[in-house]
Amino acid sequence: MTPWVPKLGICLKEKYRYVQLSMIVGSEVPDLVTVDPFNVMLKPRGAICNLDCKYCYYLRKEDLYANSSFRMEKHVLEKFVREYIDAQAGPEVVFSWQGGEPTLMGIDYFRQAIEFQKKYSRPDMRVTNAFQTNGVLIDDEWCRFFRDNEFLLGISLDGPIELHDAYRVDKGGDGTFDDVLRGIDYVQRYDVDYNILTTVHSVNSKHPMTVYKFLRDTIDAKYIQFIPIVEKMNVCDPDHSKVSERSVQPEDYGEFLLTIYDEWIARDVGTVFVQIFDVALAAWSGMRPGLCVFEETCGSALAMEHNGDLYSCDHFVEQDHLLGNLMDGNIIDLVSSPQQKQFGLAKRDDLPTYCLECEVRFVCNGGCPKNRFILTPEGEAGLNCLCAGYKRFFTGINMSMDYMAALLKNNRPASDVMTWIEREKMEWVRRVNSVNRNDPCPCGSGKKYKKCCMI
Ligand code: SF4
Ligand code: SF4
Repeated sequence: MTPWVPKLGICLKEKYRYVQLSMIVGSEVPDLVTVDPFNVMLKPRGAICNLDCKYCYYLRKEDLYANSSFRMEKHVLEKFVREYIDAQAGPEVVFSWQGGEPTLMGIDYFRQAIEFQKKYSRPDMRVTNAFQTNGVLIDDEWCRFFRDNEFLLGISLDGPIELHDAYRVDKGGDGTFDDVLRGIDYVQRYDVDYNILTTVHSVNSKHPMTVYKFLRDTIDAKYIQFIPIVEKMNVCDPDHSKVSERSVQPEDYGEFLLTIYDEWIARDVGTVFVQIFDVALAAWSGMRPGLCVFEETCGSALAMEHNGDLYSCDHFVEQDHLLGNLMDGNIIDLVSSPQQKQFGLAKRDDLPTYCLECEVRFVCNGGCPKNRFILTPEGEAGLNCLCAGYKRFFTGINMSMDYMAALLKNNRPASDVMTWIEREKMEWVRRVNSVNRNDPCPCGSGKKYKKCCMI
């Protein structure tokens, strides 16, 4: 399988820098492959976690396995490693560890996993491990292990203390900011590869620049993902549109991304890598987005629970989307089953007309099906509840994305866009300075300047 690699000059200096939340998809299908490239998010400790983040969708999955030990046994791990590697046609194989909290398995468990990977990988293969963690248990020993085995870490951090601690709390309800920062400090001292995963919720979405500048300037993060929090409420609601108070509002999400994008496009292109910006540039360059949320179809980002139960996706770990158990057959049979194919195609086939006619569908593709629970303006079901935000963001970046895509097409670095932006800004200042309040606005709106950009 080929993990998400945008193949763009501005993006990844090395392969695979983002630790995904069930979002890695192959970008190419080699000729000899017998099953489409896929990735499985492994949950060796199931839903067990040392924290109690208020918006975590996975903690309640513990209920699926009452009385379980919540530890993936050695024979399950070995069978998975063998079959997962066998299923990879290409030279790259990525193991994605998540939870719950995977560090709760202890380092020896992962030493064993590395042994199995060495035992079963082919000589020409490059095996990498992506490890999503809350960061609080990371210490010297973990870092030595991560560094020696070239793990890529994804660490969850929602911004400075007042924003991070809004929802990311421990079992006692206390904020975890200091513990996470200590973990990041370890990771940086040992030079372990990491990226930051920031969930965007109702609190931090109101402070985009505070979040971004904190990550960029205080943490010195180079790779950042912004994941929207959407918690659908199971209440009697005729529009099926109620979300929790923690959820990000769609307009806020769009504004959050656009505000950060404006800062990024002016000064950080080529030095800070924001996943959704890379994804957009891939789409504007005519490539697959490479992130399942924005792919046309789903089905290649699965999740496996501690006992070997394989599910269609990390966001659909529920009885209806259980494909079977690894110990009862071969993983390829489960991944290529009609049930999984149907799951994947439904993403495209169930799009409402509103999406089919949307000018940014080429990059959005309707977003993740788990969030498609509102009605379109015409009353059709199945619209993504983040639609307004996606539309605002993707239309708002159109011009500069066009420009960067053209740069790349002409073998120039996308970072040259920053010179163009600077020139545009200077030109704008010149035009604004030469216009009178009753003149037509230089932005081209057709309104008087005093009624438009002068305000
Ligand atoms: S349902 Fe599809 S788009 Fe959503 S997380 Fe799963 S694979 Fe990705
Ligand atoms: S922006 Fe909205 S209408 Fe357009 S494809 Fe995305 S979800 Fe559909």
